[in-house]
This record gives sequence, C-alpha cells and structure tokens, in this order.
Amino acid sequence: MPVSWGREYFCTQRPSRSARPPRGQGSRVRAGGRGAAVSGALLLLFLLLPVAAASGWWLARRDPGPRARTAPGADPDFFRGINYLLDEQPDKAIDVFLKLAAVDGETVETHLALGSLFRRRGEADRAIRIHQNLIARDNLSAEQRGYALFELGQDYMRAGLLDRAEILFQELAEIGLQRERALRGLLDIYQQERDWGQCLEVAERLKPFSERPLAAEIAQYQCELAEEARRRADPDAARRALARAQDVDPQCVRATIIEGQMALADGDREAALALFLRVADQGARYVPEVLPGLMQALEELGRTDLIAVLAGLAARESSGPVILALSEAQLQESGAAAAKATLTGYLARNVDLAALERLLDLQAGTAAALGAEAAYRAGVVHGVVRHLLTRQPVYQCDHCGFSARALHWQCPSCKRWGTVQPVQPERIPGDEVLRERRLA
Ligand SMILES: [Zn+2]
Repeated sequence: MPVSWGREYFCTQRPSRSARPPRGQGSRVRAGGRGAAVSGALLLLFLLLPVAAASGWWLARRDPGPRARTAPGADPDFFRGINYLLDEQPDKAIDVFLKLAAVDGETVETHLALGSLFRRRGEADRAIRIHQNLIARDNLSAEQRGYALFELGQDYMRAGLLDRAEILFQELAEIGLQRERALRGLLDIYQQERDWGQCLEVAERLKPFSERPLAAEIAQYQCELAEEARRRADPDAARRALARAQDVDPQCVRATIIEGQMALADGDREAALALFLRVADQGARYVPEVLPGLMQALEELGRTDLIAVLAGLAARESSGPVILALSEAQLQESGAAAAKATLTGYLARNVDLAALERLLDLQAGTAAALGAEAAYRAGVVHGVVRHLLTRQPVYQCDHCGFSARALHWQCPSCKRWGTVQPVQPERIPGDEVLRERRLA
C-alpha cells in the first residue's frame, strides 16, 4: 500500500527505548548529531548510487514499463537534492526529498535517501518509520527489500534497539540478502554486547566474504574469553582460549602477555620471563605493558643482569618506560651519573617528556648547588615539563588517532583491534638530516 506523506506521518511517537540491557561496558545507546549528518552526507551519495546500480534500478530506467515512472533520475529535483548533499547542506536536501516523496509516494530511492539522512542527522525514529513503511509495500524487488531491511537494522542500531537490529540482521544473513553487511552488523552488535562466543561464530561465517583474514580479530575474541575465564578463576579455560588465539594468530602479542601474567601469578617465573621476552619479538611497542612483571620475575629469580636485560630491550626499540626503568636500575647500582648519562643519550635522539622530567629531577640537586636563582629557574622549567607531561597521551590508535591514557585492545573510536599502542617518542633528526634539510 502506497505511503501517505501527510504531516501526521512525521509526527509519530518516538519508539520505546527497549534496548537490550547492557551486558558490559561496551554496550550503550549511541546518539547521533547534526555534525555527523553533515559529514555523512557525501558518504550517503556514494552509498546510494552503487546500491541503486547493483539492484538494477538504474537499468530499469531504460525499460519503458510501469517502473519507469518511479525512476527518480527523471525528476530534476532529485538531482537538486543530490547537489545539496554534495554541498553538505543536508537540511535543504531533506526539504527537496520530502517534496519529492509527497508528489510520488512510490519512489523507493527518495524514501531511502530520506531515511538515511534522518538517521545520520540523529533522528532515528523518523528513519525507522520511513523504512518500516517502505518494507510494508508489496511491490519491492527482493534487492530493494533487502536494502530497506538493512537500513532499518541500521536505524535500530542508532536508536539503541539492538535486539531488533539483531533479529533483522540474522534474517537477512539467513535469506542471503545483504548477507555480508548483515553479518558485519551482527558482529558490531555482539562486540558492543561483549558476547565473544557469538563474535567467533559470526567471524567464521564472514570468512568467505572477507578480503583479509579475520585471524587477528578471532585471536582477540579468544583473548577476551581468556580474560573472562581468569576473572571467574578458571585457568584451564583461559589456557584453552589462549592456545586457540595463538593457533589462529601466532603473532598475537596479547595472548603472550596474558600467558606471561598467568605464569607469574602461578609462580612459574622462568616461564613468565620467557613469555615477557617473547613480547619484544612479537610487538616491541608492547614491552612497557610487561615491564613490571618482567622486572618482578628477574628479581624473584635472583638474577643480577637486570641492567643488561633492560639495555638489550632499549637497544631494540626506543621506549621511554624501558629507558626510565634502566636509568632507575643504574641509579640504584652505580649512582646518578650513570642514570643521567642514559637519559641524556636517549633525549638527544628522542622527544620524551617523561624522560626529560626524570632528568630534571635528577639535576635538581646540581641546580640548587648553583644558588637560589639557578634553583628557581630549574624549578620553573621542571614545572612546565610536568604540566606538559600530564597532557601527553600515553596510547594512540594508529588508525584513527584516538588517544588515551590506558590501553584498549579495541579502539573505542574506530572499533579496530590492536591499533591502540603505546605512543612512540618523536625522533630528533640527526645532524646529517638537518644539514640536508637546510640544503633543500
Ligand atoms: Zn581507532
């Protein structure tokens, strides 16, 4: 039955927020905003056009049958709406599409464009109504129905109605419409709900569609299961999950870190030390994560080569925390001069506020000996460095730039796994590079 585009159509009540109760911290109702609508407008255009082409709507324009009259391309207003999208004026685009829809309630593309625009503008309830009415039509092709159902699932996601989105995506995946996108939608839901068992199942079903292997993600899901098993004091289940993680991704540094922590907790210091040192091979940037455990294992084993081990790690990767640990060990064993030499040598090549702050700390006594004026100046510099240090991110996502002061194995912003890493110090170019730059 054709949709009536009367005013009452857009005055529907907001859907009840019967979102599934969150199972974990990742489960939350997401809200959109105008900014998102504006930036998403261009994306929408590129989203709609290939879908239209794939579903044969544009081909249908060449067919002078009854569908021809519904082709939006025949109406210059449709292109006017698209131009508004290109100009990042979604509000004007919505006005145009609303008028188009009022004139011809049959036009599928216009309704899809409107639904997407409303959702991207944060008006999920309006988007839901549009897509629900679209699906209620009995003259949609299978492709059009699949696309509209997927869009409705996206609306539910935006509204936080994860249960409804899950049912829709499951049905789409079953009947083979929009299967890959539906499976990715399911994966998104299960990740939000921290339902790692379901994530593993969906990842298996996604394998045939994925250009790149999902090994890294599957290993991370297994690591999440291992962490859960540790929390419920089930080390055997944790070890089984870690073994599966390493089977699917032998380079999974997280699995090695967890295994090392478990070995240390069990009192198996030799195994823990070997595992923590393996972290340096798998992902040297993660060494700071295991540094306290590594030093504890060395100390409890009665090893006297702490400085040599730390110096070996520092030689492999520029790492502020490793340099700080090394300088502290040198301070204890040989005194301040050795510690200051290590910090100074490191700071000559790396911009690292934490190392600079420690060096200034060690030099405070020297400055005080030079008199009150020198001590005051050194104190001011020290205060500035300390202030800057509090604003320095400790971790950053390599993919989207999200910064944090705690490690997230899944980036909270772009949702990628393993992309948030300890921030590397900025390198200071050597004299040769500086000379080349001056000549250029
Ligand atoms: Zn990110």
